[in-house]
Amino acid sequence: MTVARTNCELAIVGGGPAGLAAAALAAELGVETVLFDEQPTPGGQVYRNIEANSRRHDALRDILGGDYAKGLALAERFRRSGAGYEPLTAIWQVSAGGKLGVSQNGKAYLTKAGRVILATGAMERPFPIPGWTLPGVMGAGAAQTLMKASGIVPDRPTIIAGSGPLTYLVAFQLLTAGAPLHGIIDTSEKGLFETGLAALPLLSSFAGDLLKGLSWIVALGKARVPFFRGRNLAAEGVSRLEAVSFDSGGRRHRLPASLLLVHEGVVPNNQITASLRCRHVWDVGQTAWHPQTDKWGATSTELIAVAGDGAGIAGARSAVHRGRLAALDAACRLGRISRTERDERALPERRAVQRENRFRAFLNSAYHPTEAVRWLADDTIACRCEEVTAGELRALISEGFTDINQLKSFSRCGMGQCQGRMCAGTVARLMSDSLKSDIESVGYYRLRLPIKPLPVAQLAELGNADRDSRPLLPVVEGDPSQRI
Ligand SMILES: Cc1cc2nc3c(=O)[nH]c(=O)nc-3n(C[C@H](O)[C@H](O)[C@H](O)COP(=O)(O)OP(=O)(O)OC[C@H]3O[C@@H](n4cnc5c(N)ncnc54)[C@H](O)[C@@H]3O)c2cc1C
Repeated sequence: MTVARTNCELAIVGGGPAGLAAAALAAELGVETVLFDEQPTPGGQVYRNIEANSRRHDALRDILGGDYAKGLALAERFRRSGAGYEPLTAIWQVSAGGKLGVSQNGKAYLTKAGRVILATGAMERPFPIPGWTLPGVMGAGAAQTLMKASGIVPDRPTIIAGSGPLTYLVAFQLLTAGAPLHGIIDTSEKGLFETGLAALPLLSSFAGDLLKGLSWIVALGKARVPFFRGRNLAAEGVSRLEAVSFDSGGRRHRLPASLLLVHEGVVPNNQITASLRCRHVWDVGQTAWHPQTDKWGATSTELIAVAGDGAGIAGARSAVHRGRLAALDAACRLGRISRTERDERALPERRAVQRENRFRAFLNSAYHPTEAVRWLADDTIACRCEEVTAGELRALISEGFTDINQLKSFSRCGMGQCQGRMCAGTVARLMSDSLKSDIESVGYYRLRLPIKPLPVAQLAELGNADRDSRPLLPVVEGDPSQRI
């Protein structure tokens, strides 16, 4: 018999704005809903630790700002809604038919849901530069995570390098928190911001967002944080980061630093939909894959929907509305509301999503990753779990490996603990550059379960509880002709 502690009508994976909004609305509509999330408390990436931080009376609350504070209302509505909540819980498998592999408190179990909404959000785009695996190099978003989760702020010379609004937000937050910022290296291409701005419709309705970004830049300028527009970054050091070098203004610079925070935007965290072989599309604007969905977030795999940034990056505000759209559709499919009610209730959510999409189109063009930023030198590590360099991969490609999964089998890239989460995009890009073919035809790794690290002991115990039932890791169903 399968251990199934929380069989439910609707399972939601992820407790960020999309998952919280979806769970709250679905539960309010009478759907028996359970939300699973790795984090200890609701909030996801953007509103991480929102409940505890809202109760603080120190500077951190102000540093995190008004936008962050908006997450509290979402968390409170979710808590009131009656939705089930399984925090500190990783979903290591989702298979067609609504079966979920769950790991919680040192134990694994299987459960089943009538419908699944994946709200697994975004992750920072891996930014492989020479030396990026040295201690002292990390994502800017990761530094922000430490600040939100534990109030930790760097106290050693720090440099922030990259592109996109989060780069400047984190720089501003760290500066305000007293971190010694020794430089900002903006890797975005000159002129893209202005071109994007000129194409932004209804500019005035986004004035608030633009002014907010400007205020961060002004504050950083006033504090005289050295600013460079740079490319060809390298993290230098023997056993840990000692300096950051880069090209700017026609010459090579070298800035001593103990911490380098890199950021090149965020990409959908699509491990589960990729492992399910849901149909995916390559988004040229975002330079990333995302699952193909209909207007309710439903994927090509039956019972599985995606909401929020996991379905394509559109930001926290959009995630809330996309979460509600997926919840309305789930409630309709599960017989709680009629199609008419679903469609009527969806109208304001849809309008809000469209509005956010306009601003996202601007951000996509203003901060499009440039070729110079994306180029990998031969000695740069592409797959950090298995330490495979770009040069090793290029050598295999020139020997005739033309399939990304062949490359994976022979080099072990993508076979480590992260199951390709960190290197799939990099390796696909490298293949597409080397073979001069488009990235769609290169495709994506064929992912193996579990998609989250799972101790063998947990699987063994699951086996004991489940001795006379089906295989522990069922074969992934779905359309095998889809490369991702
Ligand atoms: C590090 C980081 C920092 C960011 N900071 C900001 C910011 O300050 N301001 C801003 O406007 N935007 C920020 N963003 C962008 C922002 O995260 C998104 O726009 C927004 O949070 C998307 O909401 P979401 O609900 O789709 O997903 P998220 O908020 O990302 O929530 C996804 C949740 O799913 C959980 N999850 C994922 N996989 C599993 C699994 N297999 N099992 C269980 N749980 C799982 C995650 O732990 C997370 O709690 C940040 C992004 C990142 C990656």
